[in-house]
Amino acid sequence: MDCLFCKIIEGSIPSKKVFENERVLAFQDIQPAAPVHILIIPKKHIATMNDIETEDGALIGELFLTAKQIAEEQGIAEAGYRLINNVNKDGGQVVYHLHVHLLGGKKVGPLLAE
Ligand code: AMP
Ligand code: ZN
Repeated sequence: MDCLFCKIIEGSIPSKKVFENERVLAFQDIQPAAPVHILIIPKKHIATMNDIETEDGALIGELFLTAKQIAEEQGIAEAGYRLINNVNKDGGQVVYHLHVHLLGGKKVGPLLAE
């Protein structure tokens, strides 16, 4: 499949991995927008949040549990952080493999900044 994040999962494109298990991978964003900027993705190819099914509920939950765990490990849980999921064009999605951005390490900007 011609998907950048699937290639990262299979290892044909390198990444700086932060966490991995059989279902979830987390790695450093190549263009960090904050001191901590990590992408958390399911290993199952799901293009966008529009494509999740009821059966994906546990997997989606695991993305958020992983984000919480990584925030603790990165030492930003107490200060705070932001989780973002961009959907399609108006949401600013560029890579069409579901991902949650974990941003922190500074006070991130206004939510709806253009
Ligand atoms: P989105 O706009 O939500 O689709 O976000 C895509 C994110 O993927 C952006 O923050 C990019 O910086 C990031 N990105 C693109 N290519 C790579 C890559 N090869 N390794 C890590 N992150 C990447
Ligand atoms: Zn993919």
